[in-house]
Amino acid sequence: MSQENQERESYERFMVVVAHPDDMEFSAGGTVAKMASQGKHVTLIQVTSGNKGTDRRDITSDELAAIREAEEQEAAGRLGIAEVVFLRIGDGEVMPDLTLKEEIVRQIRIHRPDVIITHDPFRPYSLHSDHRGVGQSTVDATYPTARDPLHYHHHLTEEGLEPHKTAELWLSNPEAPDLYIDITETVDTKIHALKAHKSQVGDAEQLEERIKERTAEVGKAAGMEYAEAFKVIKMRR
Ligand SMILES: [Zn+2]
Repeated sequence: MSQENQERESYERFMVVVAHPDDMEFSAGGTVAKMASQGKHVTLIQVTSGNKGTDRRDITSDELAAIREAEEQEAAGRLGIAEVVFLRIGDGEVMPDLTLKEEIVRQIRIHRPDVIITHDPFRPYSLHSDHRGVGQSTVDATYPTARDPLHYHHHLTEEGLEPHKTAELWLSNPEAPDLYIDITETVDTKIHALKAHKSQVGDAEQLEERIKERTAEVGKAAGMEYAEAFKVIKMRR
């Protein structure tokens, strides 16, 4: 095993930061299930509760948020995630501003991950502004803001939260991946977790087909049956 892989195997704490309930399952559900099954600690930070994600007219945003948070808790349980944190920013209202950055720095300093998985903010023509906003805020919070003590000193250092250095960022759905995670053993768990999002996913058989097709396509590039792919940014600790 290469030194890089050995180092990677030693990472015990993972944090996923995504915009909407089900984003993590689609982009990294198999990876997260694999890490959890190896006894690693995974925290999920859910920035919005997806409270606009419907074409129904007979439901309010608050009602939808409650449904989607419950679906996410169920999905996270199926994947073996230790803890889900809801930041409850409005769906479609994510701004990569100092307030969001501070909140993500707070979560990093609380949960102290070795690896953070988030949306790739550098991918060209990424259409959803919440995905771009969460990706950018998370990358910016990780480096260098969470690391250096004077950032948010009055709020966070005085809350007793110590600065934290994360080892790697894994950006999901990148244009040019350089890390493939073999999810052959966990692709069914990924699909099982996605099925918990009843308000979002339609026909179960179609979903299964779609996920297997997509993850097999990704796996082909790495000689794996089913895979998820990431762009890695390594940081010195
Ligand atoms: Zn999304």
